[in-house]
Amino acid sequence: MSNSAHALYVHIPFCEHICGYCDFTKMIYNPAWVDDYLLALQQEIGARAINPSDIKTIYIGGGTPSALNLKQLERLFVILAPYMASAVEKTIELNVENTNLEKLKLFKGAGNKSNFHRCSVF
Ligand code: SF4
Repeated sequence: MSNSAHALYVHIPFCEHICGYCDFTKMIYNPAWVDDYLLALQQEIGARAINPSDIKTIYIGGGTPSALNLKQLERLFVILAPYMASAVEKTIELNVENTNLEKLKLFKGAGNKSNFHRCSVF
């Protein structure tokens, strides 16, 4: 059965620091956990049978998506590529402290309109 969703929210629950005031679902960044999470994300998206051409907006939030390393972000965008093609609005939350030129080039190449997410560290 096809799912007729028009918006895709992708939660990346990893942060380099955990802020005491934060109520979002998050955990400390651990590369091995991210790899497992991306595999689970790929499987869940596949199981939901979403028609890629139905997706008009994609929001990648967290957590801190920019906490992922470049290789993990590349893998994330490979997973999302079928949906990125039809979405007209694409947003990703970033922390300027772990965003570099290579990541920005990747986001631009993936067609993101990036929203910057700056968090305090306690
Ligand atoms: S970095 Fe952002 S998402 Fe992570 S714990 Fe702090 S406020 Fe929450």
